[in-house]
Amino acid sequence: MITFGPVSSRRLGKSLGINNISHPKVCSYNCIYCQVGKTIRLTATPETFFEPEIIFNEVKNHLTHLGPENFLDYMTFVANGEPTLDINLGQTIRLLKKLEIPIAIITNGSLLSDKSVRKDVQLADWVSVKVDSPDQHTWNLLNRPYTGLSFDRHIEGILLFASEYKGFLCTETMILKGVNDDTGMFSKLAGIIEKLHPQKAYLSIPTRPPSVQSVEMPDINKVNEVCRIFSEKQIRTEPLIGFEGTDIGYTGNIYDDLLNIIAVHPLREDALRILLYQDKADFSCIESLIRQKIINVVRYNGEKYYIRQYSDQI
Ligand code: SF4
Repeated sequence: MITFGPVSSRRLGKSLGINNISHPKVCSYNCIYCQVGKTIRLTATPETFFEPEIIFNEVKNHLTHLGPENFLDYMTFVANGEPTLDINLGQTIRLLKKLEIPIAIITNGSLLSDKSVRKDVQLADWVSVKVDSPDQHTWNLLNRPYTGLSFDRHIEGILLFASEYKGFLCTETMILKGVNDDTGMFSKLAGIIEKLHPQKAYLSIPTRPPSVQSVEMPDINKVNEVCRIFSEKQIRTEPLIGFEGTDIGYTGNIYDDLLNIIAVHPLREDALRILLYQDKADFSCIESLIRQKIINVVRYNGEKYYIRQYSDQI
């Protein structure tokens, strides 16, 4: 359950996903909009999930099953939790570099105040750091961090990382209606992001089923407003508000392909049907997984999504 895809990413092109955090979901945040469900274990202490050789061998093996049409732009650490909680992250990246494919990490940035975590993340070619909350109150409400974390230390950590990092740095900010979508918030967020000097600041909205049902998309004029405020600070900004598409890499094994991807990425029904077709499978295997309570179907914004179901989900 370590690799999936590649999937079409709006930011990274064709990206092979690496989930270096084992289920159940382990994260230092419990964001109200999280697309992989509630955090089962909230922690800020890095630990061992998989040995680096296991991840390396799984990735190498996965690559042998991909056809030439699945040429990768990136291998991306995107976990069902926070990838920097993996104490072996740096060692794993060093091994993966042998494959000569650029490496990306999508992190919430909460552990970047730790020097050893910064050192590991610096090994990646492309890093996205989450910046949703401009103050402690919003951080507690929206990202719901592990209690031992401090907002000020978190901001110091991402600033320090940004000042040291030599690769492609971007930020990602989720905008939620009634939570962080007023002009004052946008200005404060712009104030933080400007100091990070990212090559790109991405803005997102909750396009997939969120962990907390009351989470709502902001009005489109709010997205325009935040773009304007960021641009006034000379921040190169790009909204990510559309559907990424249905183009997903496949290996011929529908169970592996499906379960690996939906552990970190709910699948819309049209994308799922294409994956079934490519893996030469039919819908009966989906019905069987639903009956076994391994996957679940949820409706969001008029679309059906297939998500991983864990018996220990809280
Ligand atoms: S969105 Fe990312 S940081 Fe937030 S709870 Fe989900 S996995 Fe953790």
